Amino acid sequence: MEDCLFCRIVAGEIPAEIVHSTERTVAFRDINAQAPTHVLVVPKDHYANAAELAAGDPVASAELVSTAAAVATAEGHDDYRLVFNTGAGVGQTVFHAHLHVLAGRSMTWPPG
Ligand code: C5P
Repeated sequence: MEDCLFCRIVAGEIPAEIVHSTERTVAFRDINAQAPTHVLVVPKDHYANAAELAAGDPVASAELVSTAAAVATAEGHDDYRLVFNTGAGVGQTVFHAHLHVLAGRSMTWPPG
């Protein structure tokens, strides 16, 4: 998808601070960090959201979570929050599946 922002980051056409990559995923720092560690893990292939990714490529879907855990560990966090926003109504703004990894501060529940 040539008009997809995260496809363009995966392709190296838009700069991002990449912290980790695997066969099927790329992890990069969120440009508007909401915690000391705020990294997005995305599949290299385009899926609009987490559910479409899970249905279309379950292996990549699982790899998103294992990559997120590896990022948290590499940044020294035992405790971290993983978030998939799915749909504009709950705040999804980029329609390429991405897993938020948030860590490094205390967090409240429920989220806003
Ligand atoms: O879940 P949601 O779709 O809202 O998350 C998209 C995230 O992508 C935002 O946290 C935003 O800051 C981030 N972003 C980014 N780099 C861009 C554009 C958006 O890290 N170039």
